[in-house]
Amino acid sequence: MNEAAREKLIRAQMAGVEQVKGRLGDGKALCAIGVLLNWENWRMAHWKDLETRWGVSFSQAVPCPECGERRREANLIAHLNDEHEFDFLTIARKMP
Ligand SMILES: [Zn+2]
Repeated sequence: MNEAAREKLIRAQMAGVEQVKGRLGDGKALCAIGVLLNWENWRMAHWKDLETRWGVSFSQAVPCPECGERRREANLIAHLNDEHEFDFLTIARKMP
């Protein structure tokens, strides 16, 4: 995850975006991946943006900062959002 992605998540937190678990978004709330994908406007959402724009790898495995389990970066963001229930700010701070 690059600095631009961390900034995007921090801005979402400061704007009071509601957070959802287990899905990208529900029309109102978003998960951290949903924030990065602009899922609130899904017509503009492109999965490849995760890698090309936000520096989130689909192949590189990194350890979870909370439990140590190794996951691919894209999966780790969802894991922090859903299973450790980190808010956007904490994900921005703790993603390796
Ligand atoms: Zn974990």
